[in-house]
Amino acid sequence: MELERYSRQIPIAGWGVEGQRRLKGAEVVVVGIGGLGCLSSLYLAAAGVGRIILVDKERFELNNMNRQILCWHDDLGRFKAEVAKEKLEAFNPEIEVEAVVSEVTEGNVKEIVGEADVVVDGLDNWGTRFIINEYCVRESVPFVHAGASGMCGQITTIVPIEGPCLRCIFPEAPPEVENVPVLGATPAFLASLQVMETVKLITGIGTPLVGRILFIEGEEMTVEDVKIKRTADCPVCGDL
Ligand SMILES: [Zn+2]
Repeated sequence: MELERYSRQIPIAGWGVEGQRRLKGAEVVVVGIGGLGCLSSLYLAAAGVGRIILVDKERFELNNMNRQILCWHDDLGRFKAEVAKEKLEAFNPEIEVEAVVSEVTEGNVKEIVGEADVVVDGLDNWGTRFIINEYCVRESVPFVHAGASGMCGQITTIVPIEGPCLRCIFPEAPPEVENVPVLGATPAFLASLQVMETVKLITGIGTPLVGRILFIEGEEMTVEDVKIKRTADCPVCGDL
């Protein structure tokens, strides 16, 4: 049954049954079940990632619904992580999904992320991103960052030591803006790219977006591909 479910992706060059087995044996943590996390977790489930951990402390609100598509109208007011777990399990009963109704802090990051194969960024704040970045660098866990606002966004993949970490790229947290305007399709697009990166990291196919950051600008529909380097005085990875 599983071979049939994944029969349109297994023939992708370099994938095969072995690649599918690796996905089944993988654990991916999606932190933040918003516009990015709803889409990335759904496509991770579709691809057959064996264990997905969904982390979010909030409940769905009406103003989330232009982009957080795992929330159907009757789910308003419920915890995002719990709703998403139900939807993903109904979508693909062959995978395991865990809901963590909490925010990630320095105190619990080890417990939540543990020895995951990849962490996928679905966050809307830099404080938490930096906590995860630091943990991922320390424990050598790849971290697929993306951010979206309006019709723009950016994505990069952090593989500690191999390339720059989030702090090499953003030494200071960019200003936090509450309720940034955003079109649902923007995080959906970036989340799809995050899933491609995650699948590549797990199966070993292709070249991950390490040492590069893509800036996507939807109004003029341009993509800028910028090379980025580790910085020697990075407070997180500088002395590694
Ligand atoms: Zn760094």
